[in-house]
Amino acid sequence: MLEMLQKLIATPSMSSVSPEFDISNKAVIDILAQWLEDFGFKVEIMPLPTQPHKFNLLASIGPINPDSQGLMFAGHTDTVPYDEQRWNHDPFKLIELNHRFYGLGTSDMKAFFALVIKAVRGIEVSKLTQPVFILATADEESSMEGARMLVERGCPNVRYAVIGEPTGLKPINAHKGMMMESIRLVGQAGHSSDPSLGVNALEAMHDVIGEILKWRISLQQRFKNEHFTVPFPTLNLGHITGGDNPNRICGSCELHIDLRPLPGMNIDELRNELSEHIEQILKNRRIKWNVHSLSPATPPLLTARNSPIVTEAENLTKHKCGSVAFCTEGPYLKQLGIDTIILGPGDIDQAHQPDEYLALERIDPMINIISNLIKRFCTD
Ligand SMILES: [Zn+2]
Repeated sequence: MLEMLQKLIATPSMSSVSPEFDISNKAVIDILAQWLEDFGFKVEIMPLPTQPHKFNLLASIGPINPDSQGLMFAGHTDTVPYDEQRWNHDPFKLIELNHRFYGLGTSDMKAFFALVIKAVRGIEVSKLTQPVFILATADEESSMEGARMLVERGCPNVRYAVIGEPTGLKPINAHKGMMMESIRLVGQAGHSSDPSLGVNALEAMHDVIGEILKWRISLQQRFKNEHFTVPFPTLNLGHITGGDNPNRICGSCELHIDLRPLPGMNIDELRNELSEHIEQILKNRRIKWNVHSLSPATPPLLTARNSPIVTEAENLTKHKCGSVAFCTEGPYLKQLGIDTIILGPGDIDQAHQPDEYLALERIDPMINIISNLIKRFCTD
Protein backbone atom coordinates (compact mmCIF):
# COMPACT_ATOMS: atom_id res chain seq x y z
CA MET A 1 0.00 0.00 0.00
CA LEU A 2 2.90 2.33 0.74
CA GLU A 3 4.03 1.94 -2.86
CA MET A 4 0.54 2.75 -4.11
CA LEU A 5 0.37 5.84 -1.92
CA GLN A 6 3.79 7.00 -3.07
CA LYS A 7 2.85 6.58 -6.70
CA LEU A 8 -0.49 8.37 -6.42
CA ILE A 9 1.02 11.33 -4.59
CA ALA A 10 3.97 11.49 -7.02
CA THR A 11 1.62 11.83 -9.99
CA PRO A 12 0.42 15.43 -10.42
CA SER A 13 -3.27 15.90 -11.26
CA MET A 14 -4.20 19.46 -10.39
CA SER A 15 -7.43 20.87 -11.75
CA SER A 16 -8.30 24.52 -11.67
CA VAL A 17 -10.58 27.05 -13.28
CA SER A 18 -7.36 29.00 -14.01
CA PRO A 19 -5.87 27.40 -17.14
CA GLU A 20 -2.26 28.00 -16.03
CA PHE A 21 -2.72 25.59 -13.09
CA ASP A 22 -4.92 23.04 -14.83
CA ILE A 23 -3.51 19.71 -16.04
CA SER A 24 -4.89 16.33 -17.12
CA ASN A 25 -5.61 13.56 -14.61
CA LYS A 26 -4.79 10.85 -17.16
CA ALA A 27 -1.62 9.65 -15.43
CA VAL A 28 -3.53 8.90 -12.20
CA ILE A 29 -6.34 7.19 -14.13
CA ASP A 30 -3.80 4.99 -15.97
CA ILE A 31 -2.17 3.93 -12.69
CA LEU A 32 -5.51 3.04 -11.11
CA ALA A 33 -6.63 1.19 -14.25
CA GLN A 34 -3.47 -0.92 -14.20
CA TRP A 35 -3.78 -1.86 -10.52
CA LEU A 36 -7.50 -2.66 -10.83
CA GLU A 37 -7.15 -4.68 -14.03
CA ASP A 38 -4.32 -6.66 -12.49
CA PHE A 39 -6.66 -7.61 -9.67
CA GLY A 40 -9.46 -8.65 -12.05
CA PHE A 41 -11.64 -5.56 -12.16
CA LYS A 42 -13.45 -4.66 -15.36
CA VAL A 43 -12.29 -1.13 -16.08
CA GLU A 44 -13.94 1.53 -18.21
CA ILE A 45 -12.24 4.85 -18.91
CA MET A 46 -14.35 7.74 -20.16
CA PRO A 47 -13.12 11.06 -21.55
CA LEU A 48 -15.00 14.17 -20.42
CA PRO A 49 -17.19 15.61 -23.18
CA THR A 50 -15.74 19.13 -23.18
CA GLN A 51 -12.24 18.22 -21.93
CA PRO A 52 -11.28 15.01 -23.74
CA HIS A 53 -7.81 15.01 -22.15
CA LYS A 54 -9.40 14.31 -18.75
CA PHE A 55 -11.05 11.05 -17.72
CA ASN A 56 -13.36 9.24 -15.33
CA LEU A 57 -12.66 5.65 -14.42
CA LEU A 58 -15.41 3.20 -13.48
CA ALA A 59 -14.34 -0.28 -12.42
CA SER A 60 -16.32 -3.25 -11.14
CA ILE A 61 -15.71 -6.71 -9.79
CA GLY A 62 -18.18 -9.42 -8.85
CA PRO A 63 -21.35 -10.73 -10.49
CA ILE A 64 -23.52 -8.20 -12.31
CA ASN A 65 -27.07 -8.90 -13.43
CA PRO A 66 -30.00 -6.56 -14.13
CA ASP A 67 -31.08 -6.69 -10.47
CA SER A 68 -27.64 -6.07 -8.99
CA GLN A 69 -27.42 -3.66 -6.05
CA GLY A 70 -23.72 -2.97 -5.92
CA LEU A 71 -21.61 -0.92 -3.53
CA MET A 72 -19.43 1.86 -4.90
CA PHE A 73 -16.36 3.56 -3.46
CA ALA A 74 -15.93 6.91 -5.13
CA GLY A 75 -13.54 9.79 -5.15
CA HIS A 76 -11.87 12.40 -7.29
CA THR A 77 -8.45 11.98 -8.85
CA ASP A 78 -7.69 15.69 -9.11
CA THR A 79 -6.16 17.89 -6.43
CA VAL A 80 -6.17 21.64 -6.10
CA PRO A 81 -3.04 23.51 -7.23
CA TYR A 82 -0.38 24.14 -4.57
CA ASP A 83 1.66 27.10 -3.47
CA GLU A 84 5.26 25.89 -3.58
CA GLN A 85 6.59 28.62 -1.27
CA ARG A 86 4.22 27.67 1.50
CA TRP A 87 5.04 23.93 1.49
CA ASN A 88 7.81 22.69 3.78
CA HIS A 89 7.93 19.39 1.87
CA ASP A 90 7.85 18.36 -1.76
CA PRO A 91 4.07 18.10 -2.39
CA PHE A 92 4.69 15.17 -4.78
CA LYS A 93 6.84 13.12 -2.44
CA LEU A 94 5.10 11.06 0.21
CA ILE A 95 6.91 11.82 3.46
CA GLU A 96 6.29 9.98 6.72
CA LEU A 97 6.85 12.23 9.73
CA ASN A 98 5.22 12.68 13.14
CA HIS A 99 2.88 9.71 12.48
CA ARG A 100 1.59 11.42 9.37
CA PHE A 101 1.90 11.00 5.63
CA TYR A 102 2.54 14.38 4.02
CA GLY A 103 1.78 15.08 0.35
CA LEU A 104 -0.67 16.80 -1.99
CA GLY A 105 -3.81 14.64 -2.13
CA THR A 106 -3.16 12.61 1.04
CA SER A 107 -6.28 13.95 2.74
CA ASP A 108 -8.17 15.29 -0.28
CA MET A 109 -8.23 12.57 -1.54
CA LYS A 110 -6.08 10.42 -3.83
CA ALA A 111 -4.82 8.35 -0.88
CA PHE A 112 -8.34 6.98 -0.43
CA PHE A 113 -7.96 4.90 -3.60
CA ALA A 114 -4.93 3.09 -2.18
CA LEU A 115 -6.93 2.23 0.94
CA VAL A 116 -9.87 0.95 -1.11
CA ILE A 117 -7.60 -1.22 -3.25
CA LYS A 118 -5.84 -2.54 -0.15
CA ALA A 119 -9.24 -3.48 1.36
CA VAL A 120 -10.46 -5.05 -1.89
CA ARG A 121 -7.35 -7.20 -2.10
CA GLY A 122 -8.39 -8.75 1.19
CA ILE A 123 -11.69 -10.08 -0.14
CA GLU A 124 -12.36 -13.38 -1.84
CA VAL A 125 -13.81 -12.45 -5.20
CA SER A 126 -15.60 -15.81 -5.54
CA LYS A 127 -17.65 -14.97 -2.43
CA LEU A 128 -19.06 -11.73 -3.85
CA THR A 129 -22.82 -11.90 -4.40
CA GLN A 130 -23.07 -8.20 -5.39
CA PRO A 131 -20.59 -6.16 -7.40
CA VAL A 132 -18.07 -3.74 -5.89
CA PHE A 133 -17.55 -0.59 -7.95
CA ILE A 134 -14.77 1.97 -7.86
CA LEU A 135 -15.39 5.38 -9.37
CA ALA A 136 -12.51 7.82 -9.88
CA THR A 137 -13.62 11.15 -11.30
CA ALA A 138 -11.97 14.12 -12.96
CA ASP A 139 -12.36 17.82 -12.20
CA GLU A 140 -14.12 17.71 -8.84
CA GLU A 141 -12.06 20.67 -7.67
CA SER A 142 -13.00 22.80 -10.66
CA SER A 143 -15.99 22.10 -12.90
CA MET A 144 -17.41 18.84 -11.44
CA GLU A 145 -17.69 17.80 -15.08
CA GLY A 146 -16.64 14.24 -14.25
CA ALA A 147 -19.58 13.71 -11.90
CA ARG A 148 -22.03 15.57 -14.12
CA MET A 149 -20.96 13.45 -17.08
CA LEU A 150 -21.68 10.28 -15.10
CA VAL A 151 -25.24 11.49 -14.53
CA GLU A 152 -25.68 11.83 -18.31
CA ARG A 153 -24.21 8.40 -18.91
CA GLY A 154 -26.08 6.61 -16.11
CA CYS A 155 -24.57 4.19 -13.63
CA PRO A 156 -26.69 1.06 -13.34
CA ASN A 157 -26.29 -1.75 -10.80
CA VAL A 158 -25.08 0.54 -8.01
CA ARG A 159 -27.31 0.95 -4.95
CA TYR A 160 -24.96 2.45 -2.35
CA ALA A 161 -21.89 4.67 -2.48
CA VAL A 162 -19.22 5.91 -0.12
CA ILE A 163 -17.27 8.99 -1.17
CA GLY A 164 -13.92 9.13 0.63
CA GLU A 165 -13.70 12.91 0.99
CA PRO A 166 -12.02 14.00 4.22
CA THR A 167 -14.49 13.63 7.11
CA GLY A 168 -12.17 12.37 9.84
CA LEU A 169 -13.73 8.87 9.72
CA LYS A 170 -17.18 10.25 10.58
CA PRO A 171 -20.09 9.48 8.25
CA ILE A 172 -21.88 12.38 6.58
CA ASN A 173 -25.31 12.17 4.95
CA ALA A 174 -26.03 15.84 4.25
CA HIS A 175 -24.52 19.00 2.91
CA LYS A 176 -25.78 22.21 1.42
CA GLY A 177 -25.68 22.94 -2.28
CA MET A 178 -23.91 25.82 -3.94
CA MET A 179 -24.89 28.21 -6.71
CA MET A 180 -23.02 31.26 -7.94
CA GLU A 181 -25.03 33.71 -9.98
CA SER A 182 -24.24 36.93 -11.77
CA ILE A 183 -26.83 39.69 -12.07
CA ARG A 184 -26.08 42.22 -14.77
CA LEU A 185 -27.95 45.48 -15.26
CA VAL A 186 -27.54 47.71 -18.28
CA GLY A 187 -28.87 51.27 -18.31
CA GLN A 188 -27.64 54.23 -20.27
CA ALA A 189 -24.45 56.23 -19.65
CA GLY A 190 -24.45 60.02 -19.92
CA HIS A 191 -23.13 63.25 -18.44
CA SER A 192 -23.75 63.43 -14.69
CA SER A 193 -24.90 67.04 -14.86
CA ASP A 194 -28.20 66.03 -16.45
CA PRO A 195 -29.78 62.82 -15.10
CA SER A 196 -32.32 62.80 -17.93
CA LEU A 197 -29.47 61.93 -20.31
CA GLY A 198 -29.06 58.45 -18.90
CA VAL A 199 -30.38 55.56 -16.84
CA ASN A 200 -28.24 54.82 -13.83
CA ALA A 201 -27.52 51.09 -13.51
CA LEU A 202 -25.77 51.55 -10.16
CA GLU A 203 -28.86 53.13 -8.64
CA ALA A 204 -31.00 50.33 -10.06
CA MET A 205 -28.58 47.81 -8.54
CA HIS A 206 -29.04 49.50 -5.20
CA ASP A 207 -32.74 48.62 -5.38
CA VAL A 208 -31.98 45.12 -6.66
CA ILE A 209 -29.68 44.52 -3.68
CA GLY A 210 -32.40 45.72 -1.31
CA GLU A 211 -34.83 43.30 -2.93
CA ILE A 212 -32.33 40.40 -2.76
CA LEU A 213 -31.73 41.02 0.94
CA LYS A 214 -35.49 40.96 1.55
CA TRP A 215 -35.67 37.71 -0.42
CA ARG A 216 -32.88 36.31 1.76
CA ILE A 217 -34.90 36.97 4.89
CA SER A 218 -37.88 35.21 3.38
CA LEU A 219 -35.74 32.18 2.37
CA GLN A 220 -34.30 31.97 5.86
CA GLN A 221 -37.77 32.09 7.37
CA ARG A 222 -39.10 29.42 5.03
CA PHE A 223 -36.18 26.99 5.25
CA LYS A 224 -34.39 25.77 8.37
CA ASN A 225 -32.51 22.61 9.23
CA GLU A 226 -30.98 22.21 12.67
CA HIS A 227 -28.82 19.39 11.29
CA PHE A 228 -26.43 22.11 10.05
CA THR A 229 -24.07 24.37 12.00
CA VAL A 230 -25.48 27.30 10.03
CA PRO A 231 -29.09 26.06 10.09
CA PHE A 232 -30.48 28.26 7.30
CA PRO A 233 -29.68 28.86 3.63
CA THR A 234 -27.06 31.57 3.13
CA LEU A 235 -26.87 34.20 0.41
CA ASN A 236 -23.71 36.26 0.14
CA LEU A 237 -23.15 39.41 -1.90
CA GLY A 238 -19.59 38.69 -2.98
CA HIS A 239 -18.55 41.00 -5.76
CA ILE A 240 -19.79 44.07 -7.55
CA THR A 241 -18.49 46.12 -10.40
CA GLY A 242 -19.98 49.01 -12.33
CA GLY A 243 -19.48 52.44 -13.78
CA ASP A 244 -16.23 54.25 -14.41
CA ASN A 245 -16.19 57.92 -13.45
CA PRO A 246 -17.93 60.03 -10.78
CA ASN A 247 -19.14 62.48 -13.44
CA ARG A 248 -20.66 59.82 -15.68
CA ILE A 249 -24.05 58.17 -15.22
CA CYS A 250 -23.30 54.52 -14.53
CA GLY A 251 -24.24 52.56 -17.66
CA SER A 252 -23.84 49.01 -16.38
CA CYS A 253 -23.39 47.18 -13.11
CA GLU A 254 -22.79 43.54 -12.27
CA LEU A 255 -23.26 41.73 -8.95
CA HIS A 256 -22.06 38.22 -8.08
CA ILE A 257 -23.83 36.29 -5.36
CA ASP A 258 -23.33 32.88 -3.78
CA LEU A 259 -26.35 31.00 -2.51
CA ARG A 260 -26.09 27.82 -0.43
CA PRO A 261 -29.41 26.00 -0.36
CA LEU A 262 -30.43 23.43 2.25
CA PRO A 263 -31.58 19.96 1.26
CA GLY A 264 -35.14 20.26 0.00
CA MET A 265 -34.50 23.53 -1.84
CA ASN A 266 -34.59 23.30 -5.61
CA ILE A 267 -31.91 25.07 -7.64
CA ASP A 268 -34.14 25.84 -10.65
CA GLU A 269 -36.92 27.17 -8.44
CA LEU A 270 -34.42 29.42 -6.64
CA ARG A 271 -33.20 30.80 -9.96
CA ASN A 272 -36.79 31.49 -11.00
CA GLU A 273 -37.55 33.21 -7.71
CA LEU A 274 -34.45 35.37 -8.01
CA SER A 275 -35.46 36.43 -11.53
CA GLU A 276 -39.03 37.18 -10.42
CA HIS A 277 -37.76 39.48 -7.66
CA ILE A 278 -35.50 41.36 -10.08
CA GLU A 279 -38.27 41.58 -12.64
CA GLN A 280 -40.59 42.96 -9.98
CA ILE A 281 -38.22 45.67 -8.75
CA LEU A 282 -37.08 46.77 -12.23
CA LYS A 283 -40.42 46.80 -14.02
CA ASN A 284 -41.30 50.09 -15.73
CA ARG A 285 -37.63 51.08 -15.76
CA ARG A 286 -35.40 51.44 -18.77
CA ILE A 287 -32.97 48.82 -17.46
CA LYS A 288 -32.02 45.70 -19.35
CA TRP A 289 -31.01 42.84 -17.09
CA ASN A 290 -30.04 39.22 -17.06
CA VAL A 291 -29.04 36.57 -14.58
CA HIS A 292 -26.55 33.88 -15.46
CA SER A 293 -24.74 31.15 -13.56
CA LEU A 294 -21.02 31.66 -13.02
CA SER A 295 -20.56 27.89 -12.73
CA PRO A 296 -22.88 24.89 -12.81
CA ALA A 297 -24.70 24.67 -9.49
CA THR A 298 -24.15 21.77 -7.10
CA PRO A 299 -27.40 20.58 -5.53
CA PRO A 300 -27.66 19.86 -1.80
CA LEU A 301 -27.24 16.30 -0.51
CA LEU A 302 -29.51 14.47 1.87
CA THR A 303 -29.46 10.70 2.19
CA ALA A 304 -32.27 9.21 4.27
CA ARG A 305 -31.23 8.41 7.83
CA ASN A 306 -32.84 5.00 7.55
CA SER A 307 -30.88 4.00 4.44
CA PRO A 308 -28.88 0.82 5.15
CA ILE A 309 -25.65 2.56 4.10
CA VAL A 310 -26.24 5.24 6.75
CA THR A 311 -27.09 2.82 9.55
CA GLU A 312 -24.23 0.47 8.65
CA ALA A 313 -21.71 3.33 8.54
CA GLU A 314 -23.00 4.57 11.91
CA ASN A 315 -22.53 1.11 13.40
CA LEU A 316 -19.02 0.72 12.03
CA THR A 317 -17.76 4.18 12.97
CA LYS A 318 -19.74 4.54 16.23
CA HIS A 319 -20.71 8.03 15.04
CA LYS A 320 -24.11 9.40 14.10
CA CYS A 321 -24.31 10.70 10.54
CA GLY A 322 -23.77 14.45 10.42
CA SER A 323 -23.46 17.27 7.92
CA VAL A 324 -20.52 19.19 6.47
CA ALA A 325 -20.12 22.70 5.14
CA PHE A 326 -18.44 21.71 1.86
CA CYS A 327 -19.91 20.36 -1.39
CA THR A 328 -19.16 16.95 -2.86
CA GLU A 329 -20.07 14.83 -5.88
CA GLY A 330 -22.66 13.09 -3.68
CA PRO A 331 -25.72 14.90 -5.10
CA TYR A 332 -24.81 13.65 -8.59
CA LEU A 333 -24.64 10.04 -7.39
CA LYS A 334 -27.94 10.62 -5.63
CA GLN A 335 -29.45 11.76 -8.95
CA LEU A 336 -28.45 8.32 -10.24
CA GLY A 337 -30.57 6.71 -7.52
CA ILE A 338 -27.55 5.78 -5.40
CA ASP A 339 -27.80 6.18 -1.60
CA THR A 340 -24.59 8.06 -0.87
CA ILE A 341 -22.62 8.94 2.24
CA ILE A 342 -19.37 10.82 2.62
CA LEU A 343 -16.83 9.02 4.79
CA GLY A 344 -13.08 9.32 4.48
CA PRO A 345 -9.89 9.17 6.54
CA GLY A 346 -8.56 12.69 5.96
CA ASP A 347 -9.45 15.96 7.65
CA ILE A 348 -11.10 18.85 5.86
CA ASP A 349 -8.79 21.22 7.77
CA GLN A 350 -5.96 19.63 5.79
CA ALA A 351 -7.62 19.91 2.41
CA HIS A 352 -6.38 22.67 0.11
CA GLN A 353 -3.62 23.53 2.63
CA PRO A 354 0.19 23.58 2.40
CA ASP A 355 1.76 20.51 4.07
CA GLU A 356 -1.46 18.53 3.64
CA TYR A 357 -1.22 15.26 5.54
CA LEU A 358 -3.07 12.10 6.47
CA ALA A 359 -2.66 10.80 10.04
CA LEU A 360 -1.35 7.22 9.99
CA GLU A 361 -3.79 6.19 12.74
CA ARG A 362 -6.68 6.77 10.33
CA ILE A 363 -5.51 4.27 7.75
CA ASP A 364 -6.26 0.88 9.34
CA PRO A 365 -9.69 1.92 10.68
CA MET A 366 -10.65 3.17 7.20
CA ILE A 367 -9.53 -0.07 5.55
CA ASN A 368 -11.56 -1.98 8.15
CA ILE A 369 -14.65 0.09 7.46
CA ILE A 370 -14.31 -0.51 3.72
CA SER A 371 -13.82 -4.27 4.21
CA ASN A 372 -16.83 -4.50 6.51
CA LEU A 373 -19.05 -2.53 4.14
CA ILE A 374 -18.10 -4.91 1.34
CA LYS A 375 -18.88 -7.90 3.56
CA ARG A 376 -22.22 -6.40 4.58
CA PHE A 377 -23.44 -5.30 1.16
CA CYS A 378 -21.69 -7.61 -1.30
CA THR A 379 -21.47 -11.03 0.35
CA ASP A 380 -24.03 -13.37 1.92
ZN1 LIG B 1 -12.07 16.63 -2.21
